[in-house]
Amino acid sequence: VPRILDGKWVRDQILAELRPRVAKLPRPPGLAVVLAGHNPASEIYVRNKVKACQELGIRSEKLTPPETVTTAEMLEIVDSLNRRPEIDGILVQMPLPSQTDARRVLDAVDPDKDVDGFHPLNAGRLAGGQPGPRPCTPSGVMQMLRRYEIPVAGRRAVIVGRSDIVGKPMAMLLLHAHATVTICHSRTSNLEEECRRADILVAAMGRPALVRGSFVQPGATVIDVGINRVTDPAQAARIFASAPERLREFESKGSVLVGDAHPVEIPSAAGAYTPVPGGVGPLTIAMLMSNTVDAAARRLGV
Ligand code: NAD
Repeated sequence: VPRILDGKWVRDQILAELRPRVAKLPRPPGLAVVLAGHNPASEIYVRNKVKACQELGIRSEKLTPPETVTTAEMLEIVDSLNRRPEIDGILVQMPLPSQTDARRVLDAVDPDKDVDGFHPLNAGRLAGGQPGPRPCTPSGVMQMLRRYEIPVAGRRAVIVGRSDIVGKPMAMLLLHAHATVTICHSRTSNLEEECRRADILVAAMGRPALVRGSFVQPGATVIDVGINRVTDPAQAARIFASAPERLREFESKGSVLVGDAHPVEIPSAAGAYTPVPGGVGPLTIAMLMSNTVDAAARRLGV
């Protein structure tokens, strides 16, 4: 019987460990979230981040520049947050409106307040194995592996996806944990064969159900980072051909969340796997909270 890796269980542990650390600080940690424009998905993410702060006793502040914001205005906002002593963490919610230069804005965040771990200095710290904030989603995956005691050292890890926010930092973290790491991407020539070598397979490419049961070595751990909303009935019918109850769920709601790993085939092929939703998803915000508490503790010298 495969093990289901429960992200909420891991998240609750992480948050429970943060609570006493927050209580010990001389003042509440401060997180500023900059949400530019009106991207509906971003609005939901930001709402959940603010809610997590409230529950943990982190002071959060939401800044909402308009859709028409310029790069210069974004840089001014970031600069003023960099200067404010009671702000420990700055999160610029992606994607930014298309007229802005997102890279310049992210690079302007004070590296010590960079709770997303996206600043080039922090990417360098990660590559060099030096302490620093790590990108939240891949560090959440490491927490999942650790807390379920899935061995990493000496194992083969295959990551599908090479983005700067998930795939690449995931590879670095697994490498530092002594896995033998392969990174696959859109130009990998035999994806199925590469994946089948994995003891730990991380799917992070934003392609619904692309990792099939046949990609998985018996007993392997499958970590599904993908979150895709499937709205096409034909696609849903294909994915859930042998799971009529899930198909009915799609039919009643008009959409369904599907990971990058096949939701019907993976459970019977893997030794352990993360479901979507309820797997990796809950960990990203928990690690954002963790990075914010770390930043506050470091800045307050405790
Ligand atoms: P991205 O679009 O930036 O990168 C996708 C990567 O996948 C690219 O490197 C590309 O080379 C690779 N890829 C695309 N198609 C491929 C294919 N057919 N075969 C092999 N590789 C392929 O995506 P991202 O920002 O890294 O996000 C990936 C997924 O993870 C998305 O579904 C996203 O919604 C999800 N995500 C989840 C969380 C979370 O909190 N759980 C956080 C971030 C991203």
